[in-house]
Amino acid sequence: MTSILQKDPARCWLCGRYGTSADPLDTHHVFFGPYRSKSERYGLTVKLHHFSCHIYDRGAVHANKAVCRELQAEAQKAAMKEYGWSTEDFMRVFGRNYIEEGT
Ligand SMILES: [Zn+2]
Ligand SMILES: [Zn+2]
Repeated sequence: MTSILQKDPARCWLCGRYGTSADPLDTHHVFFGPYRSKSERYGLTVKLHHFSCHIYDRGAVHANKAVCRELQAEAQKAAMKEYGWSTEDFMRVFGRNYIEEGT
């Protein structure tokens, strides 16, 4: 399934730039661990620069919990819209609600 979160898979979700040979784009599964295959199935993946935006740098998704949560909330909203799910429907598939109340 192609991503429902990005129009242009040649660009990084976080910084918006293209991949380079020094820092190529990885596919990140927004809900990883036990939900990795469901992320794949529902198109909840984004492209991220391997070093600077995905794994290693301070602002990278796997290194920065705030960035990770922001992406998860955005993905939940996109999935609910795309598939016509309520919050409860989403939680049945992905185990929890990532959208904080009042934001
Ligand atoms: Zn990037
Ligand atoms: Zn990842």
